[in-house]
Amino acid sequence: MEQKLKIAVLGAGESGNGAALLAKSKGYEVLVSDSGIIAASIRRELEDAAIPFETGGHTFSKIADSDIIVKSPGIPEKAAVIKELRALNKEIISEIEWGFRFKGDSKIIAITGTNGKSTATALTGHVLQQAGINALVGGNIGISFARLLATKPLAEWYVLELSSFQLDDITSFRPEVGVLLNITPDHLNRYDYDFNKYVAAKFKIAAFQKDEDLLVVNADDAAIAAYLNKHQIKPKIAKITMNKENLKPGEDGAFKENEALRMRLNGEISEVSIHDLKIKGQHNLYNSMAAGISARAAGLRKEKFKDCFSSFEGLEHRLEFVATVRGVDFINDSKGTNLNSVWFALESMKKPVVLILGGQDKGNNYDEIKDLVEEKVHAIVCMGLENEPILKALSGSVAQIVETKSAKDAVHAAYALAEPGDVVLLSPGCASFDLFKNFEDRGTQFKEAVRNL
Ligand code: ADP
Repeated sequence: MEQKLKIAVLGAGESGNGAALLAKSKGYEVLVSDSGIIAASIRRELEDAAIPFETGGHTFSKIADSDIIVKSPGIPEKAAVIKELRALNKEIISEIEWGFRFKGDSKIIAITGTNGKSTATALTGHVLQQAGINALVGGNIGISFARLLATKPLAEWYVLELSSFQLDDITSFRPEVGVLLNITPDHLNRYDYDFNKYVAAKFKIAAFQKDEDLLVVNADDAAIAAYLNKHQIKPKIAKITMNKENLKPGEDGAFKENEALRMRLNGEISEVSIHDLKIKGQHNLYNSMAAGISARAAGLRKEKFKDCFSSFEGLEHRLEFVATVRGVDFINDSKGTNLNSVWFALESMKKPVVLILGGQDKGNNYDEIKDLVEEKVHAIVCMGLENEPILKALSGSVAQIVETKSAKDAVHAAYALAEPGDVVLLSPGCASFDLFKNFEDRGTQFKEAVRNL
């Protein structure tokens, strides 16, 4: 009898659990191993599926005895267990690589970038589904790719949000459509503080694409443009840009012209008016162009375009309008966890701003937003345990700057500093872990404090 392949899954979060369920459903022998505590809900799921697991440490001999090791994206290359497995030359892959091996004839739109992944992924999925195309959405957003494959009938298209960590360990993953939204410094601690390594990790999305596949790239992004100048890549390229001049006459791509976004694929143009988009701001024009051109590549007919876009409301915690309280608008952009997203949030503001900024600093250089702060912001409310870098960089740029250490205090301080006709924008540009569980918790506490004003 043929021996069952043994799969070890390292890390029992959403993707590890999905990978284990997929392995089990395909008849493999599986072990899940987590160096930390496995959440109760995942533990139950593993038990129900009769998947053995260990928690609070790895039994190295058992893992090394496996044929394939599926590594969760949260586990860095530097982790001791990975180093030791590498030394043994074991096959170590990511969960999306594992899923890819079971996707049959389904096709994939894979979306990565520093910012906008979730929005562009949700929008692309929404557009395809509205058009009646059989599409499932997952990856880094919501349900892992492997879990979708383990628990649902195969879809015609998978729209996947991918972080660079998930791309790090692919060995054959090949999306028919790859999307690279933008690349600005983030998560550099995982890349030896080398921006070029981070850029290369993002471009891995195209590593196994073939000539006939498509890579959608932001032509206005300096890091993307520089990489493409230096490196040859296989797939066809469709650029998205605010400036039509960046495209050669007749070249496929998407561009903004007057008040419309135009998507040109195989010479045929479809368009959507920017007034038909509910999600606002220049960054969302990029996200919409990326979604539009991807949807066209997935077979969306041009006459269906407008309605598919206009019904997308945007995601919670991304420039989410909360309420107007005595003439002051409150906007929750808690997912703005780096300065590039704060920049785009400020750029899209039409009214004078009181900005709630700060949290766990990842080494920000606040000079990046200084010009926009001087133009649009009259007061800053710091919300974090350690606000020194903000105070140092931006005190001279605004009339008032105050420090707070909770969402409630920040909202009260911002409200006191705001005039009717202002907007209070929470766009922290930092991680949330100093004061909150995660960015969702931060956004939720902010909204609650606004509603209690
Ligand atoms: P991700 O999944 O990549 O973190 P999100 O869609 O969750 O991206 O958005 C994260 C933050 O970045 C939000 O604050 C949002 O307003 C901002 N943002 C969204 N799209 C873009 C973009 N294309 N460029 C820059 N910032 C963006």
